[in-house]
Amino acid sequence: MIETSPTSLLEKQSPPQIPFRVFAVRFVFYTIIILSVFIGIGVAVFHIQTSLEIKENNVKNKSAIAIAANLATHDFETVIGDLLFLSSDDTAKGFLEGNNIENSIIAIQEEFLNLSRTRQLYDQVRLIGPSGNELVRVNFANGKSTIVAPENLQNKFNRYYFSATSLLAKGEYYISPIDLNVENSEIEFPHKPMIRFGTPLIDASGILRGVIVINYLGQDFLDKFRKQMELVPGTGMLLNRDGFWLSSPDIEDEWSFMFGGEVSFGKKYPKAWETIKKEQTGVVETAKGTFSFTTVNPSTKMDQTPTMAKQLEDWKIITVSFDEQIDFSSIKSRLLIYFPFLGILPIAMLIGFFLARSTVGRKLAELKLVEANSYLEEKISIRTHELDERVKEQTGLYSLAKILNRLDITIEESLELAVEVLPPAWHYPEITCACIIYGERDFTTANFMKTDWCQTAPINYQGNRVGVIEVYYLEETPELDEGPFLKEERNLINSMATNIENFLIRKHTEQNLLSALKEAEKASKVKSEFLASMSHELRTPLNAVIGFGQMLQLSPSYPLSPNQNEFVENILEGGNHLLELVNEILDLASIEANQLNFSLSDFEANEIISTCVQLVTPLGEARSIKIIDNFSNGPSVLLFTDHTRLKQVLINLLSNAVKFNNDGGTVTIEGKETDYGYLRISVTDTGIGIAKEDQSSVFNLFHRVDADPMIAREGTGIGLTVTKLLVERMAGRIGVESDAGIGSTFWVDIPLASNDDVLIWTDAIKVGVDAIDSDHQVLVSMLNRLMRRSTDEADVDDIIDELIDYTQHHFAREEAIMEAYGYPDYERHCNLHQRLIDDVNQQAESWSNESSQENLDLLRKFLKNWLFNHILKEDAKIAISSKGKDQGIRQRLEDQGLISGTKSSKT
Ligand code: ADP
Repeated sequence: MIETSPTSLLEKQSPPQIPFRVFAVRFVFYTIIILSVFIGIGVAVFHIQTSLEIKENNVKNKSAIAIAANLATHDFETVIGDLLFLSSDDTAKGFLEGNNIENSIIAIQEEFLNLSRTRQLYDQVRLIGPSGNELVRVNFANGKSTIVAPENLQNKFNRYYFSATSLLAKGEYYISPIDLNVENSEIEFPHKPMIRFGTPLIDASGILRGVIVINYLGQDFLDKFRKQMELVPGTGMLLNRDGFWLSSPDIEDEWSFMFGGEVSFGKKYPKAWETIKKEQTGVVETAKGTFSFTTVNPSTKMDQTPTMAKQLEDWKIITVSFDEQIDFSSIKSRLLIYFPFLGILPIAMLIGFFLARSTVGRKLAELKLVEANSYLEEKISIRTHELDERVKEQTGLYSLAKILNRLDITIEESLELAVEVLPPAWHYPEITCACIIYGERDFTTANFMKTDWCQTAPINYQGNRVGVIEVYYLEETPELDEGPFLKEERNLINSMATNIENFLIRKHTEQNLLSALKEAEKASKVKSEFLASMSHELRTPLNAVIGFGQMLQLSPSYPLSPNQNEFVENILEGGNHLLELVNEILDLASIEANQLNFSLSDFEANEIISTCVQLVTPLGEARSIKIIDNFSNGPSVLLFTDHTRLKQVLINLLSNAVKFNNDGGTVTIEGKETDYGYLRISVTDTGIGIAKEDQSSVFNLFHRVDADPMIAREGTGIGLTVTKLLVERMAGRIGVESDAGIGSTFWVDIPLASNDDVLIWTDAIKVGVDAIDSDHQVLVSMLNRLMRRSTDEADVDDIIDELIDYTQHHFAREEAIMEAYGYPDYERHCNLHQRLIDDVNQQAESWSNESSQENLDLLRKFLKNWLFNHILKEDAKIAISSKGKDQGIRQRLEDQGLISGTKSSKT
């Protein structure tokens, strides 16, 4: 019961905050992610580029190695070519033939000198005799070739190249391993790398005559090699077979095998050497670097070589990419390429910022939503609770209204029940008790006890306090913040008091109405009885007056003088009119008292109409009014009704048509079958007509249009009232259409003999108890109204309501009657009534839910059957057992306010 305006639900919420830390963490996180992606891409590109570079380097290295290998081969080919030329040309032949040694030596000197000058590659070109003595020697130094004087020639018998070459066969050659030149047992400095090529000179008889030795200057080759290697991306080196450097980037390391062999590739890079030593060519990756290598042996390519005494040792050409020797300059340049990528840092930060902001924003929105949700849920639960309370209160009010609306109980009984519905509507029903004080009486709940926690509401009637409602809590409750009761409960108790006040007003009004009704019924009854008895009383002397008047006129013994005759004429006219009036009054009284009996039979409408026309014709003739019968000679129409009463009706209409016609006018009677089972007989005149505003009242008792005695024609104003009652009792209907000054058409609908829907009251269905029979008559006429097919929907609803209402009233009377004389089957009969009421209500509900013709037909059929059956089968039994107890019954009905023989339908 907390006051909360729905609009404030969300406003009251302080928005949830996401701490800056969360935002910062997200920002850093997203920035790092984005940077990582960029960097990853960079690294991948770098890696690809590097590996491409490595591949490219490898290719470069390989081709450099191949070029270097070719260089060596090419130089060696030249040397060997020269050597073989020297050993086989004419000069050599001259020497071998030994005809003129001195000349031969000179020729050889010349030849060697030429060669040395041309090639500029040979440190020495020598001819060494079989005993090791140098015979010819041309040196090349400082760009100059010189023939060494004979005194400077040395014995080389012990040198390995001499002995190795002198063992060779003709045409074979020797290539020494590369080493540094030794001069006079000292390693010459600057170093002179040297390869010795030698071939033997063998004469025709196979005797060794000498050895030609060319000292090839390795430096030239090594320089070219080194130059070549400068072009490769890695470090180029040349190793001899034993893994000693012949060419190394580190010059210190070169030629170590000439100085004790401390330094070697094998020692420095044992792991790489292991493979390089064994394989011809390949790539070795070690922790220290990547080694591309190939093995070269220039002599193998020399296909003109028949044999070799000693093969040139295998050289290893290696290029190395040292890991520790990463080319920082290239990395730097590459990084420079990436430098623009540094621009991504602010971009990454920006994206990171927005991502962080949007995710944090979303998170925030989610949080807000969750919080709003839970807030709403809480509110809803409060609201639901409040609603439950309201429902409880409304239920209390509804229960109270239901009790107060009951018609069958007194004020006291109502209040006794009402007090019990109060506590359940309160906030804490289990500790609530209540009391309604009305007049002298207190109505309390079973647990009633006065406490300090009380609320009251006065009950007023006509400005006076006539009572009070008191509600007490039996104990104090913590939630009672507004005195003992909350606002809603104050409203509730006030509403209940108001309800009771309205109830009292209604009850008192009802009581007043009931007594007024009783009075009216009594008066009406007195009137009917008076009229009936007066009619009888009047008719007797009136008949005497008319009879004697006629006797006076007709007496042959005492003929009347013209004057006397005129007086008697007046007496007779007045008397007849009076008699007519009295008869009509008598009819009316007996119809109203439901005492008129009908005797039904089948007959032709043609015949009865013809009779009526004949009867009225003289009346018309007196005023030259022509009565035209358009019906009687037509096809015969069979009716099932009371012959005499129908005649009475038609004569009444025809005589009115004459009476209110102009002299010389016409009256036309016609008949037509309706499509709802009736014959519509209409009487049309050319008379004065009836103004529109008067048409609805012409059927009212004593109503006469233009009731001015000067213009009024003879008449009583009873005729049409009686006619209407008669028609309706015959399950028919009457109506009028008229234009003032032009004429009127009065019509009646009378059921055809073939119409099974109607139920006409006759003595045959009379029970024999006046009160019951008159009710049955009313019910029958109501039923007939419902049966009429032309009745429109709104009328049907009214008739059904009226019918149900009247049926209930009738059942109450019938039950009172049964109770009055102790009807033995009372209980069962009452149950039957209840069942019938329930059934009718149910049918009526189906009709009101769906106003279809089908539902209406069902309802009609049901009503007709039960009414007919109930009257004939059940109510007839009441009559048998109630005989002779009329007085008791009357008294009982009077006591209960149910004496209403004239409670009539709205006819
Ligand atoms: P009465 O004819 O005895 O006056 P009714 O009950 O028959 O009484 O008629 C009531 C009134 O209806 C008449 O006084 C008359 O004013 C009017 N009325 C009845 N029939 C006609 C008609 N055919 N033409 C014009 N007015 C008529």
